[in-house]
Amino acid sequence: MEPRAIDYLVVGAGFAGAVLAERLASQCGARVLVVDRRNHLGGNAHDGPDAAGVLLHTYGPHYFRTNSQRVVDYLGQFTAWHPVDYRILSWTHGQYWPFPINLNTFEQFLGRPSSPEEMTRLLAEWREPIAEPANSEEVIVSQVGRALYDLFYKNYTRKQWNRDASTLDASVCGRIPIRTNRDDHHFSEKFQALPADGYTRMFERMLAHPNIEVQLGADYQDVRSRVRPRHLIYTGPVDEFYDHCFGHLPYRSLRFEPETLATEFFQPAMQVNYPNDHAFTRIVEIKHATGQKIPVTTIVREYPQDYLPGREAYYPIPARDARALYQKYRARAEAEPNVSFVGRLATYRYYNMDQVVAMALTEFDKLRARHHASAA
Ligand SMILES: Cc1cc2nc3c(=O)[nH]c(=O)nc-3n(C[C@H](O)[C@H](O)[C@H](O)COP(=O)(O)OP(=O)(O)OC[C@H]3O[C@@H](n4cnc5c(N)ncnc54)[C@H](O)[C@@H]3O)c2cc1C
Repeated sequence: MEPRAIDYLVVGAGFAGAVLAERLASQCGARVLVVDRRNHLGGNAHDGPDAAGVLLHTYGPHYFRTNSQRVVDYLGQFTAWHPVDYRILSWTHGQYWPFPINLNTFEQFLGRPSSPEEMTRLLAEWREPIAEPANSEEVIVSQVGRALYDLFYKNYTRKQWNRDASTLDASVCGRIPIRTNRDDHHFSEKFQALPADGYTRMFERMLAHPNIEVQLGADYQDVRSRVRPRHLIYTGPVDEFYDHCFGHLPYRSLRFEPETLATEFFQPAMQVNYPNDHAFTRIVEIKHATGQKIPVTTIVREYPQDYLPGREAYYPIPARDARALYQKYRARAEAEPNVSFVGRLATYRYYNMDQVVAMALTEFDKLRARHHASAA
């Protein structure tokens, strides 16, 4: 049978694929086929109720936050927002600690009241003088010294990545703020909220356009011979696209262990990190963030694990050796005239959701200028 001609084939119904499909269909009148090999929308941001009716983030907690008004305005067409104060605690040495490190954490560490001035002075004494921190260990010990690094970062990072922090990019630990005031918000972005009806509902609205056809449970490998797109938008793993011709890119995977409990809340915050106890890194009780009113709760323990066949590729490894391998794929990808590689797996980089939305909107601008000049 002759392959079906369409304007765009979008591989992946996560943020990257959904934004591009929505824009191309609604702004350019393009006919778009979206395929995803999972049987649901939303990619890693998918959410839905579990057997007890608790709304869960299927692939780990997704805390939406951004400084980009463009991203908020764009997504706001498809969802109302539920503002959230994202707060995270760390559990070690038999007690909860506010995290990221702030003046309250510092006072608990000292065992007495302190002040921003004293915190600034003592951290200056404790920090190791490293002018240009080159990795995640250096970036933390150069700010707070070895003892606080050992308490909160060292083992957590090892569990999470199965690598020493000294072999990971400075940005991995460096993106966690350290504050000398009492601000215990986990993130610093000015907009922090979750889609009021959940992520999946937002994706359904984005993809509800009559020019968009969605096929779930459909792998690109099986679909490719049946359609002839004018342009391909690929948001899956870039090494898979090229049959791993330069070798497999390394990823970190996760195992989620949910437990439903007959109590309204289990823990005092939506997330508790376990840097030094247990094999899991964190327990997430997302109800704290979603605001769902329900008399039971579900907590999820998160166990990092190696990425092996049959497991999900969650995190690209943020390290020099992995990036060097990616550069080989990137060179091939950039030479493709009719394929856009967009999103986290296609560009092998740890991006947050808002960054992926921004990346997709930028790619849309390019595609519109190239293929739909009259619609621009
Ligand atoms: C555990 C975890 C926690 C996170 N927490 C946050 C957070 O708190 N805040 C935040 O901003 N971001 C968070 N993120 C990042 C967020 O998930 C990503 O930024 C976002 O989902 C990336 O969207 P994407 O479209 O690039 O990729 P994805 O969401 O991965 O979507 C890609 C889709 O492509 C599909 N696909 C791949 N290959 C094929 C193929 N061959 N055929 C068909 N379909 C295919 C996949 O099934 C997938 O659904 C987190 C990520 C993880 C893993």
